[in-house]
Amino acid sequence: MPEVLAAAIFPSRGAAFGLGEVRPSAPVPGARSSGSVECRHQNQNEEKQILYMTYTMNRRHRSPLGRLGSKPARHHSRLARRLTGAQRHSGPIPGADEILFLPLGGTSRIGMNMALYGHAGKWLIVDAGVAFMGDEAPGIDAIMVDPTFIEERIDDVVGMIVTHAHEDHIGAIHHLWPRLRCPIYATPFAAHVIRERLKEKGSARQVSLRTFGIGENFVLGPFQVESIAMTHSVPEPVALAIRTGVGTVLHTGDWKFDPDPLVGRAADLEALKRLGDEGVLAMMCDSTNAMVEGSTGSEADAREGLIEAFAGRKGVIAITCFASNVARMKAVAEAASINGRRVVLAGRSLLKMEKAARACGYLDGLPEFLSLDAAARTPRRKLVLMCTGSQGEERAALSRIARGEHRSLSFRRGDTVIFSARAIPGNEEAVGEIRRLLEDRGVAVISPADAKVHVSGHPARDDLTRMYELVRPRFAVPVHGTLPHLEAHARLARTCGVERALIPEDGDIIRLAGERTAVIGHIEPRRLAYDGQSLLPWDEIPTDGTQPDENFATQPVLLAA
Ligand SMILES: [Zn+2]
Ligand SMILES: [Zn+2]
Repeated sequence: MPEVLAAAIFPSRGAAFGLGEVRPSAPVPGARSSGSVECRHQNQNEEKQILYMTYTMNRRHRSPLGRLGSKPARHHSRLARRLTGAQRHSGPIPGADEILFLPLGGTSRIGMNMALYGHAGKWLIVDAGVAFMGDEAPGIDAIMVDPTFIEERIDDVVGMIVTHAHEDHIGAIHHLWPRLRCPIYATPFAAHVIRERLKEKGSARQVSLRTFGIGENFVLGPFQVESIAMTHSVPEPVALAIRTGVGTVLHTGDWKFDPDPLVGRAADLEALKRLGDEGVLAMMCDSTNAMVEGSTGSEADAREGLIEAFAGRKGVIAITCFASNVARMKAVAEAASINGRRVVLAGRSLLKMEKAARACGYLDGLPEFLSLDAAARTPRRKLVLMCTGSQGEERAALSRIARGEHRSLSFRRGDTVIFSARAIPGNEEAVGEIRRLLEDRGVAVISPADAKVHVSGHPARDDLTRMYELVRPRFAVPVHGTLPHLEAHARLARTCGVERALIPEDGDIIRLAGERTAVIGHIEPRRLAYDGQSLLPWDEIPTDGTQPDENFATQPVLLAA
């Protein structure tokens, strides 16, 4: 949208979100005030905005989602009840003199990453992931962002870019696409994984899924995007340098600096430095390990640890990690080969990832893995069983084998099980239960606490510092974490010389515009829950922890599974 038109519709955006809603950004010791946070509302358009904000804020909040970004509705609930449908569709229109950043998920709890960038009347979506609920909500497989805010302005959405193929970044795409219907851009590996999901849903033909190469530049509306090679725990992670008329922002995605990632290329430090030389307005950066000292290790370290851990073992070696960690799959295959063993995969998600990895050439040169039938004819001491279930998931291969419920695989005394992944907070109990079950049967269990059989895919503090030294952003916006992660990241960013660090929560609207950079508003981030069949409004799921009952048949189902 031309700037003049945007200004006419939304003449004073900073103030429009003011009444009762604008909160100053996090206090920054020693930093100067932006001077842009004011509480004024002067005209009808602004009142519409306030009504919109109030409407969205009156939604019920639930504790299992962690910090939802809720703000009290205060004295506007009466106005909210007068809302008409048309008014509900009002909202921020990004001007040509600013970039708006709106994290819809990923900044209040780990997972469910989805963010919007707005500029010159247009919006760009980055990622659409899920968060897994575990014991927090029995019967609910995953939750994701309710895309209503995007849907309401879909004509101004130029597309969605995917940073990498992890569930917390792509897991919602096949659920939400029918409501978004915008082009999706991904690297070949991520595109392969997404396409297979869409095929299962029967919607692959309708989706405009386009691939881009790592390091490629492309233009989407007013956004000039450069994809920059990073390293992580999945092939082809990219950072996105998003250039606009008012400056460049860097969306790092998930990353670490791994000089020997085993699959794919190393992070493009040159490109990051060049970007820093050009000048970066703001960096939205991974906070997962912002409380971890030192530097994250390389995938090559995990390979060495696995070679050592495999040596001299007698029975079957079973190893579990995240299915998407293709580098780990490769490391396991190499460690097996060095120790005279063959690899067999157990678990659907591992088989799918193997297919995607082979299609993209990431397992070239490795022997084919054994089928389960062939493994059954192979001596146990010659086998490495790679299986799903590193988080203690009840239906995954590892727990079924451990419980003696797998149709063709079982553990015996003298076998070894290696957890090549850390338990995500919330899953420790389930993992501990599997461990007890295995140890009771005389199976040796090795976890990352016992040996170097796992390295993280996220940057620790020294890596973050190095990133800030390369990119030198004016503003830091920590993402991908809970409040303690984001706060630790913000403190680190300030020591690295950023002018300000703004700590977002899901639904915050951050304006990036030089001196006028500030959190200028908030929309209530609504959620959808997937129960294995349908998407349901999270607000309507019983709070007592019971499974959704038959009453759900009468609830509005937003989208068939
Ligand atoms: Zn992630
Ligand atoms: Zn990731």
